[in-house]
Amino acid sequence: MIIVMKRGATEEQIDHVIKWIESVGYQAHPSRGVERTIIGCVGDDRGKAQLTYAESFSGVEKTVPILKPYKLTSRESREGDTVVRVGDLQIGQGGFVIMAGPCSIESEAQMMESAYIVKKGGADILRGGAYKPRTSPYSFQGMEEEGLKLLKKAREKTGLPVITEVMSNTEVDVVEEYTDVLQIGARNVQNFSLLKRIGKCKKPVLLKRGMMTTIEELLMSAEYILSSGNSQVILCERGIRTFETATRNTLDISAVPVLKSLTHLPVIVDPSHAAGLWRYVLPLSRAALAVGADGIIIEVHPDPSKAVSDGVQSLKPEKFYALMEDLRHMEKILRAQ
Ligand code: PEP
Ligand code: MN
Repeated sequence: MIIVMKRGATEEQIDHVIKWIESVGYQAHPSRGVERTIIGCVGDDRGKAQLTYAESFSGVEKTVPILKPYKLTSRESREGDTVVRVGDLQIGQGGFVIMAGPCSIESEAQMMESAYIVKKGGADILRGGAYKPRTSPYSFQGMEEEGLKLLKKAREKTGLPVITEVMSNTEVDVVEEYTDVLQIGARNVQNFSLLKRIGKCKKPVLLKRGMMTTIEELLMSAEYILSSGNSQVILCERGIRTFETATRNTLDISAVPVLKSLTHLPVIVDPSHAAGLWRYVLPLSRAALAVGADGIIIEVHPDPSKAVSDGVQSLKPEKFYALMEDLRHMEKILRAQ
C-alpha cells in the first residue's frame, strides 16, 4: 500500500502518518518528490486493509494498493526515477554511465595499467573483481583483500570511483570499506541473506540479473535490498541462458524497457558477460544506449590474451578507446533528437 500525501502537506503531517504506520506494525518508506511525498508501507499483506484508514488524516490525499509483489521497487511507489549517486556521478538521471575494467584484479601492474586505460578512455567508474565466482573450484578465485587494496590504490591514482563484487555475508564489511559500489553477481541474485545484509549498507548496489532469473524475480531480489533500508540500487541485465550457444548468454535487451516501465530504479547492461566475446561488445553497447539503458559495465584488459579470467570477452585498450568514442558520439546524436 502507498499513502499519497497532498501537495504542500507539512512535515508534521508526514511525520504523523509515518508514526501511525509504524504503530500499526508496518515499515514506512517515505519518498519525497518535487510535487508531493509518497509513503510506501511494507509489512504483512493480510492486515493492509487497515492502512486505508490513513485517508482520514489531514494532509493525506489517498491510499493506493500496490498489486505487484514487489512494492518499494515498483514504479507506483515513487514519484519519478531513482537517481543513484556515486560521488558526483548521478546514475539514472538521463546520462549514459560507463563502468569498465578487468574481470579480475590480478596484480598491481595489471590493475594500475587497467585503471589508467579506463581513465584515459573517459569511463566513469572502474571495475575489478577481488572475489570471483568461478564455475570451477580450480580456476583463479580472486586476490581478495589484497586485490581490494590494489583497487583502492587505483581509485586514489585516477580519481575514479570503483565497483567490485561481494560474494558472501562475511566479506560485506571489508568490501564496503574499499569500494564505492557493491556488486551482487548473477549467481547471488537470490542469495536472500546476502541481499538483506547488503540492504543495511550505506553504499550503492549493482544487482545483476541471474542467468535463470525472470524479470519479476530480479525485482523481488531488489525488493529485499530496498526493504532492508538501501534504496540506492542499480539493476543490470547481463544475459540469460537460452537454447542459443553462439553466444555465452543471450542478451535480453527487451529487459531494459520492461524494467524501466516496472521500476523507478536505474538499469544498466553488461554486454561482456552476455556475449562472451569481445567482438560483440560494441554492437551490444550501442543497443543498450539506443534502448534507453542508464549505462553499461564492460570488461577491459591491458592484454586480454594474458587475462586470468574472461579474456575472450575483454576489450584491449585500442578497442576500448574506439568504443568510448563511438558511444559518446552516438549519445550526442541521440540527445540532439
Ligand atoms: C563479473 O562481473 O565478472 C561477473 C562474474 O559477472 P556475472 O555475475 O554477471 O557473471
Ligand atoms: Mn567477468
